Amino acid sequence: MPQSPPMRWVSSPAAPTGGVCIEVDADKGTQGVGCRGTDAETCGICMEADAAVVAQGCGCRGTTGWAHPACLAQAARARYGHVGARAWTQCGVCRHLFTGPMQGALCQAWLEDTRDAGDLDPARLHARLFHAFAQNCAGRCGDALRLYREALPAFECAFGTDSPSVMSLQSYMSVAMNDCGQHEQALALQDAVLAKARALGAEHTGFWRDLSCSKADSLLALGRFHQAGQLLTGLTAGTAGEAPRGFVVKALIRTALCLQGERRLDEADHVADETVAMARQVFGARHPYTVEACSVQAAGHLARQRAGLALQALSCVLDAWPSEVTQEVNAKTAVAFEVAASAHRQQRAYAKEESCLQVSQADYCVVCAMYTRSAQRNN
Ligand SMILES: [Zn+2]
Ligand SMILES: [Zn+2]
Repeated sequence: MPQSPPMRWVSSPAAPTGGVCIEVDADKGTQGVGCRGTDAETCGICMEADAAVVAQGCGCRGTTGWAHPACLAQAARARYGHVGARAWTQCGVCRHLFTGPMQGALCQAWLEDTRDAGDLDPARLHARLFHAFAQNCAGRCGDALRLYREALPAFECAFGTDSPSVMSLQSYMSVAMNDCGQHEQALALQDAVLAKARALGAEHTGFWRDLSCSKADSLLALGRFHQAGQLLTGLTAGTAGEAPRGFVVKALIRTALCLQGERRLDEADHVADETVAMARQVFGARHPYTVEACSVQAAGHLARQRAGLALQALSCVLDAWPSEVTQEVNAKTAVAFEVAASAHRQQRAYAKEESCLQVSQADYCVVCAMYTRSAQRNN
């Protein structure tokens, strides 16, 4: 019997976006595996082009969406007085979160800026929160969880036990709990914070939607697919087309997972295809949301023994694999590799099936090596 796709899922919204070059035999017709161009990109702030320019990892596309971390940090300092913590965490143009190396660089810069501020200084506390969040995004959920727990007493002291800032921290912390496999604890915390948010009239806010998506992750991980599906239906019904597309993609990804969990595979395929198309269009092929959507699509193919199609769907993940320099493995990328490795195992079992796309032995070795490395780093 072929192995079923893994149902473990994670919800930290980021993956590394560094370029990667994987050597493959060009004659084998592998799709989507290759190098990012060697030309240096141009910083959208100072307009210089050199090797220090990195992708912002937000929703900006084309010539925008690249900057020197130092230039973007300078811009964040200037914006901070107007927009607060968002200056450091999300793009002022497309309003999506920075991800990948840019996220890590900005969080270091902000920590450095606030190093001499008092323990209860709001900017210092939010820089610590962002630091923990960035750790989780980079696949270090255990470190993130420790940082959240260390910061919580200071947050409660500075802002008040039931303050929005404390609720934010708890919401992020529940994501790290999920990523660390503590799903029951995550769910209990999410329910507690959602109840507080409801009492404050914060239903249908961005905070509410994000936290609800995290709760859906907990339910999915616990195998409570029907309940997760109901939660997601209620969420999307309440937004009536006005929700940010980042949220729509997140909700669709989880909806597809619910349907897969319930073995409603046709519907799951349909939702996954729609999600991948939207994520590609809005965020581009390398964005974490797109990687996540492709993994779900691949898992759907795998559930029907279509290993070749699963691997094809994952070609964007192979493209997004981080460079040897960053050495960062995101939890989502690791899940994608699990799916890819399962697809390879399955494909070998079904090698004679004509509907399977033929994937070379060289590709198999590449993916296995990646999977092994990602598994090691996540242990
Ligand atoms: Zn610059
Ligand atoms: Zn942007």
